[in-house]
Amino acid sequence: MTFTLAIVGRPNVGKSTLFNRLVGKRLALVDDQPGVTRDLREGAARLGDLRFTVIDTAGLEDATDESLQGRMRKLTERAVDMADICLFLIDARAGVTPLDETLAEILRKRSAHVILAANKAEGAAADVGVNEAYGLGLGEPIRLSAEHGEGLNDLYSQLMPLSDAFEERAKSETPEVDVALDEDDEDEDTYRRPTTARPLQVAVVGRPNAGKSTLINKILGEDRLLTGPEPGITRDAISLQIDWDGLPVRIFDTAGMRKKARVQEKLEKLSVSDGLRAVKFAEVVVVLLDAEIPFEQQDLRIADLAEREGRAVVVAVNKWDIEPEKQEKLRHLRESFERLLPQLRGAPLVTVSAKTGKGLDRLRDAVEKAYEVWNRRVTTAQLNRWLTGMLEQHPPPAPGGKRIKMRYMTQAKTRPPGFVVMCSHPDKLPESYSRYLVNGLRTDFDMPGTPIRLYMRSQS
Ligand code: GDP
Ligand code: GDP
Repeated sequence: MTFTLAIVGRPNVGKSTLFNRLVGKRLALVDDQPGVTRDLREGAARLGDLRFTVIDTAGLEDATDESLQGRMRKLTERAVDMADICLFLIDARAGVTPLDETLAEILRKRSAHVILAANKAEGAAADVGVNEAYGLGLGEPIRLSAEHGEGLNDLYSQLMPLSDAFEERAKSETPEVDVALDEDDEDEDTYRRPTTARPLQVAVVGRPNAGKSTLINKILGEDRLLTGPEPGITRDAISLQIDWDGLPVRIFDTAGMRKKARVQEKLEKLSVSDGLRAVKFAEVVVVLLDAEIPFEQQDLRIADLAEREGRAVVVAVNKWDIEPEKQEKLRHLRESFERLLPQLRGAPLVTVSAKTGKGLDRLRDAVEKAYEVWNRRVTTAQLNRWLTGMLEQHPPPAPGGKRIKMRYMTQAKTRPPGFVVMCSHPDKLPESYSRYLVNGLRTDFDMPGTPIRLYMRSQS
């Protein structure tokens, strides 16, 4: 079992139905005798090729000595603390209820990984509920029908990369640093480290010879150099946990993997999937460029992938020590960056020398900042004040004489930040207007280095 998934949600949203579907015949593992007051049921789940433990929180509901709200709160907190990932179900037919909102808040605060699903979503009757679910601040909801088995592919797609990451974690487990949650930190605008503080997951990607191994070894410290000329020293660990000047980081080491692969003469095949896996694993992707040959096809592809996967991105230009015309070169790099990777506009560009160590402190700070921005949450009040200003400054177009109206905006998710705008005729809104809003968000709320998602929803 690679990870534990808890199904949480208020009574009657379909938790048991989904649990049974995931566990199937293997229900024998479950203590399910009638009359026994059970609280958390646990079973061995299977979804495609994924194997994991699933916890169902249904069942406590017949206890009567406390308010439903209080019981749900406690139960959800327990499930979060036991599980690696929470699958939060709402009933798409019933829409979002106050109890759903209470549970969503617990999950936002306590759980590192939450997947939101709107269940009972078969048929059009569910559309309104699905739309409402965006407002929970937990990302784009999966449309699920536990009863009819629909939407399980989408669930699989969301679990798969997480499963990979947990597998890596299990392989190279070292004691983790505990970072205490500041209980007083109620400021909506600052990001909160999850209670179960994990190291920040970083991948260093780039073309062969960009200097990835040198960089990782430099960060690790020379004395902990793990590679060597002797055979057999090729390191097995493909992720390494380190303390990077006080920042707990797990670095996904594609270079180590590649060198291992070279031995097996599978270089070409592996180097492509390396990059993919590294990006999926990472929260922050460091795209390492060789100053001599920056922005090659391979660099552009991986940077674009990182953006599409919604990862925070920091671009580092390596071998700066041997660059003769630093000022001129930097200007040139910035220009190429804007032109070739407009989708990553605003991502930090840091010059480093993996060899001498120069610039690595700035790289560390850029990684930390990108992660912080990636997790950032902006309040709905702030957003709507901001939206009003943006609309006044530059009103949306009026195709066919009917002005497109935008009434309301809220942040639907973090990691990366995603925003929903309620809009009349979203299909008629030109791409340029969405870009205007995204660029505005980036500047006005200081969000460099992170993809920003904007979802236009029609108001019904
Ligand atoms: P729990 O209390 O959250 O565990 O919810 P249950 O799994 O007991 O389901 C509550 C009710 O919703 C039952 O009558 C289920 O048959 C029904 N239900 C569960 N999933 C779906 C679904 O996908 N679509 C529809 N229409 N009904 C569902
Ligand atoms: P990888 O394939 O991306 O892991 O790259 P390596 O770390 O193996 O480095 C490739 C080559 O570039 C090696 O010869 C390194 O010594 C050299 N190199 C790496 N970083 C720097 C740097 O900052 N400055 C200079 N001058 N050379 C570097």
